[in-house]
Amino acid sequence: MENEVTKNFIENIIDEDNEANTYGKRVHTRFPPEPNGYLHIGHAKSICLNFGIAQKYGGITNLRFDDTNPSKENVEYVNSIKKDVEWLGFTWDDRCFYTSNYFDQLYAYAVKLITCGKAYVDDLTGDQIKEYRGTFNEPGKESPYRNRTVEENLALFQEMKDGKYADGEKVLRAKIDMASPNINMRDPVIYRILHATHHRTGDTWCIYPMYDFAHPVSDAIERITHSICTLEFEDHRPLYNWCLEEWDDPEGQVPRQIEFARLNVTNLIMSKRKLRVLVEKGIVSGWDDPRMPTIAGIRRRGYTPESIRDFCERIGVAKADSTIDISLLEYCIRQDLKLKAPRLMTVIDPIKVVITNYPDGQSEQCLADNNQENEAMGTRMMTFSKNIYIERNDFMEQPVKKFFRLAPDKEVRLKYAYIIKCEEVIKDSDGNIVELHCTYDPESKSGSGANANRKVKGTLHWVNAADAVDVETRVYDYLLQTDDGEAADSKDFLSQINPHSLDVYHSKAEACLAEYAVGDKFQFLRQGYFVIDPDTTPDHMVVNRIVGLRDTWAKMQKKK
Ligand code: ATP
Ligand code: MG
Repeated sequence: MENEVTKNFIENIIDEDNEANTYGKRVHTRFPPEPNGYLHIGHAKSICLNFGIAQKYGGITNLRFDDTNPSKENVEYVNSIKKDVEWLGFTWDDRCFYTSNYFDQLYAYAVKLITCGKAYVDDLTGDQIKEYRGTFNEPGKESPYRNRTVEENLALFQEMKDGKYADGEKVLRAKIDMASPNINMRDPVIYRILHATHHRTGDTWCIYPMYDFAHPVSDAIERITHSICTLEFEDHRPLYNWCLEEWDDPEGQVPRQIEFARLNVTNLIMSKRKLRVLVEKGIVSGWDDPRMPTIAGIRRRGYTPESIRDFCERIGVAKADSTIDISLLEYCIRQDLKLKAPRLMTVIDPIKVVITNYPDGQSEQCLADNNQENEAMGTRMMTFSKNIYIERNDFMEQPVKKFFRLAPDKEVRLKYAYIIKCEEVIKDSDGNIVELHCTYDPESKSGSGANANRKVKGTLHWVNAADAVDVETRVYDYLLQTDDGEAADSKDFLSQINPHSLDVYHSKAEACLAEYAVGDKFQFLRQGYFVIDPDTTPDHMVVNRIVGLRDTWAKMQKKK
């Protein structure tokens, strides 16, 4: 992990460029998503990095949609991506661009390459091109069409653009080196024919530039200085640079590609393509299902932008691949909510308790802290009366050793209220426990009773039955069973789907929960952090558990 004073390797590169005055001390980055799905937490790392580093150097960042594959892209994705970047707290001002804005310039530049003898139209089929490309150990073979004249290439490329040919009939290839040890340099395809309607340019074009060509040229058009991308593009860097050899920049500044290690997180799938499979197969309820590692899912789950930025800061940037433990992400949201989320009482899986010696029809108020660790959040009153709920698993009829919660003839304290003792267990005809009958110690009220300080081993949360709010509680487990980041992204990820990743409870919440709105976040005492879900209606409240209270990250750090 990066330490505060050392700079990361990208900052070192920028410092060198500033020193050498490579870019006139400009720092101009871009975030270039393809609008073919929703962004995930891996993209959040790239967003924080690109926008964050520019901010640090007083530079700017463009949002650029890399929309060169019309068959997979659409406006829903464009809009979701904009929303996610803004939610994370970054702004592109008036610099939201699309590669499709540059189709004319890309075409003109391809024509220039043909004119320089650096590109040619090839008639080989896709399969033949693959076959001719050779392997890691064998050089490739030149296409019989490789030595067409400039005039012929120009005419054919024009005809490709004019729609004279069917998909796949011809391609434009860079003329580099079929014997290059780097397979990416063996005359890569830079334009293909695709008769598809584009979400922005409609049917204007039937040829589309390939990513490896469109990307450097778009960077150059926008006068990007540092083009930061993930490690799998390292082998493409020579091609990136090759593509810009004929580029005519007013100040002779061409962008520089820098690669960093992509984010992998245990238990999380980090690929839009695979996430789309989960949505399409109905394994999740949508791109924003709270179990999804998409930014939309994480947001609905109750994560805050602050917690995600903190996470990205803590993981740092490196040049070697690694897998981050998901417990760090969970640690970050706990840290963020610890002092700012109100702490309320909600009984997730309730069992009724009748306080038999409490007067019928009576009720009273108990003073409760809104957040024991943040006094500034003040206090509130909770109603206590004869009928309450406690957590089903806070009672054991035959308590195991060290079970300090409620059991027959045992006492516990109800937080901010009284000590109660279990006198009788009421069961239905099938033997299921339906109710507990308890007595209370009238002198034991927290704060004011004569026995306020009487010690008992356990303290439980509870809610008053008469004014409790019914809540549907959704408790999530990891969508993937594995905790191996590599395996999580492997081909057969579908076989690792956890069939029990969602548990739904009919819970009873403290009355004041009704005053809160969708998106509000809380700690439910002893249960974790929760958020009100958008599925909530005026007469049906739904909450998601964001994360439990147990800090497995801190534990792991101690062990190290
Ligand atoms: P996916 O494989 O999920 O579809 P992608 O790389 O195809 O991801 P893009 O829309 O092309 O998705 O990504 C936009 C930017 O986000 C790219 O610069 C890419 O390098 C970066 N990015 C994608 N995944 C990660 C990740 N796991 N960690 C860091 N950056 C990532
Ligand atoms: Mg990509």
